[in-house]
Amino acid sequence: MKKILVTGANGYIAKHVIADLYKRQYSVRGTVRDLSYSEVIKQDIEKHLNSSIDIEFVKASLDKDDGWNEAVKGCDAILHTASPFPINYIKDENELILPAKEGTLRVLNAAKLNSINRVIITSSNAAVYAGNKHINEFDETIWTNIDAKGVRAYTKSKTIAEKAAWDFISKNSSITLTTINPVLVWGPGLGDHLSSASLGIFKILMKKEMPMVPKIKMPIVDVRDVSKAHVDALENKDSYNKRFLVCENTYWFKDVCTKLKSVGINAPSIVAPSLLIKFLSLFDKKLKEITPFLNYDFNINSKQAKTVLGFKPIEFEKTLEDTYKYLNDLLKNK
Ligand code: NAP
Repeated sequence: MKKILVTGANGYIAKHVIADLYKRQYSVRGTVRDLSYSEVIKQDIEKHLNSSIDIEFVKASLDKDDGWNEAVKGCDAILHTASPFPINYIKDENELILPAKEGTLRVLNAAKLNSINRVIITSSNAAVYAGNKHINEFDETIWTNIDAKGVRAYTKSKTIAEKAAWDFISKNSSITLTTINPVLVWGPGLGDHLSSASLGIFKILMKKEMPMVPKIKMPIVDVRDVSKAHVDALENKDSYNKRFLVCENTYWFKDVCTKLKSVGINAPSIVAPSLLIKFLSLFDKKLKEITPFLNYDFNINSKQAKTVLGFKPIEFEKTLEDTYKYLNDLLKNK
């Protein structure tokens, strides 16, 4: 049985990836920053699979060398999902950029030292579409322009980390790399992911914490599809050394709200004037991060994922329904 290392095993996406690996008869070692999470992670995945799993855990942090060699040793491939993804505004961008980039290089160096030649990295559309307002349709040939005005710290961290990975691979061709570049991920988590950054917006809409919506577009994909794309890429030679944007579709925020109403969420229907948002962003750093996207009409092209990985996205309405049910159940039990 092949053993796969999944970094950041505690994550919203990672737990689905681990469950999918077990469904396909792989065995898994996960990295965590805190070993006390191990039992809950195991239980969440076992509950979902309705069977027991033999997962191992190793403690490793992206900020430190300790643990990475032990984590990687004896594995056949690595799925590197760990990266800081905070819900709150971060003042010092290096808090995100350094662990994202150096952590990725730690993982790749450990792979090289242990002769592991297959690595899949969870990158993001954040490494593709930001700072390129002259472009309206994005594919994998495009890179975020981190020097453009208003590019947020998280976006920089994902772009710099992914670029560092491809640069590493260009000098170490024994390793084949694939990056999965999801857009905003929704869908049911395994266990408690109430503090997930990507589910944060959904929660705000559910709790009616937003009176109006900004005129921005949201590219969305289901967590189950993101996970499947990682595992589908693992042994698919046609995916080697490629990036894959995975996106169900791109929706204006107000259209998302209209669809949310159909699943029972009383989401806002008024679009905030963009000038008002720009004014308020002078006092609110979180709003400032969305101003570059105001009024910006763009699409994400997932043709490569459809052709090579057989990506067939779950319908948006199903993602909304399942996310609502998942979050509602968690919130009821809080
Ligand atoms: P998540 O639930 O916050 O998971 C992130 C994982 O990274 C957690 O396991 C976290 O560990 C780990 N991590 C963060 N900083 C770390 C550090 N310094 N050292 C070691 N581990 C660290 O987020 P997610 O949504 O599953 O995201 C997983 C990956 O997908 C990330 O690379 C993210 O950038 C990417 N992505 C996510 C989305 C989305 O909308 N969800 C979209 C595009 C790309 P702890 O549990 O210890 O905090």
